[in-house]
Amino acid sequence: MANYNPYENMLNTLDEAAQKLGLERNDYEVIRHPERELQVAIPVQMDDGHVEVFSGYRTQHSTIMGAAKGGIRFHPDSDENEVRALAAWMTIKNSIAHLPYGGGKGGIKVDPKKLSQRELERLTRGFVRKIAPIIGVDTDVPAPDVNTNPQIMAWIVDEFSTLKGVWSPGVVTGKPLAVGGSLGRNEATGRGCMFTLKSYLEKNGKKMSDVTIAVQGFGNVGSVGALLMHREGAKIVAIGDVHGSIYNENGIDVEKAYEYANSHGRSLEGYEEAGMKRIPNPELLLLDVDVLYLAALENQINGSNMKEVKAKAILEGANGPTTNEADLYFFDKGIDIIPDVLANGGGVVTSYYEWVQNKAGFYWDEEEVNTRLEKNMKMSFEEVWAMQQEYKVYPRLAAYMVALKRLVDASKLRGFNG
Ligand code: GLU
Repeated sequence: MANYNPYENMLNTLDEAAQKLGLERNDYEVIRHPERELQVAIPVQMDDGHVEVFSGYRTQHSTIMGAAKGGIRFHPDSDENEVRALAAWMTIKNSIAHLPYGGGKGGIKVDPKKLSQRELERLTRGFVRKIAPIIGVDTDVPAPDVNTNPQIMAWIVDEFSTLKGVWSPGVVTGKPLAVGGSLGRNEATGRGCMFTLKSYLEKNGKKMSDVTIAVQGFGNVGSVGALLMHREGAKIVAIGDVHGSIYNENGIDVEKAYEYANSHGRSLEGYEEAGMKRIPNPELLLLDVDVLYLAALENQINGSNMKEVKAKAILEGANGPTTNEADLYFFDKGIDIIPDVLANGGGVVTSYYEWVQNKAGFYWDEEEVNTRLEKNMKMSFEEVWAMQQEYKVYPRLAAYMVALKRLVDASKLRGFNG
């Protein structure tokens, strides 16, 4: 879709949520606009000596609930429109999860696979120097997202702390354990998706062992989620990444695929197991499965392919993988989309636990982190579910309604509305 604008998508759902809640435009106009947006140029001396200048973005969509919070992605398609939408989705996501945060997001327009490790480090540190005036432990706290990882977070915390002259672990989350990370953070988004799917299935009288799942994307969110769902008894019949998709009607050996991807640069290229076949990537989205677990990028299911989708439910591990048009179409068809702002909240929820531990200087064991995460995911699911039943609306709208109600209450109390 040529004119796909994810921020417009977000606004459409927000307006619909406001209308259902009986809100006036004055009540939430402030939430329709990003509070602060920064675009920066990052010069990087490449290994061969020439200088390249990359574009970077950091948007603080809202600070009504607290510091802006959300990841940073490195992707060739990243731009101000995408980052703005992703920042707004964080505001909604953080509100649903009861976190004391607003929403933010960052991005650099770059294909990190084309950079050496040294170049990647220089780019990351250069970006931090440019956004340092607006980030901070109590102002805006980045984290990993697409193509960024704990090592990159370690560079961020180091560069920021060096600039400020004070060790500031809480300025970024998703760090490695050795520099103030939290146990469980790396697996948290996939684990949260698994918990949410479990809650959803329970409401529908089903168990994990009753369902077949196709997984789009085998990065952190897709691979950990698939592995944990598999361990809970689900049959994962298809997995796709940028290099291609594999299908096994008897169920993929996810433990083996996970190990393989981890030792092959997170790719399934060249992976083999008995009974599997390769299928074209677009076909994976159209498989006749119980659950389609989308864990890649935005705008994957839209007007052009939604009518061919055969899955009975869609679980959004990625941010924004289905468009408004698809939301309404699937609602009509009785197919549930378990929305991103609910399903993939486990990452930022555990980021919050990391930040709390950084502030306290007191670190928890993994069981404590995972138990709290499960409790939070269940509570958020129940609240969205209740809203959905009460207003007879589709799940994403219910999720926005839960978030918006809290945001409007806080914004009125604080006097954000002008
Ligand atoms: N990038 C993740 C997300 O989209 C995590 C954000 C965070 O931990 O702040 O939710």
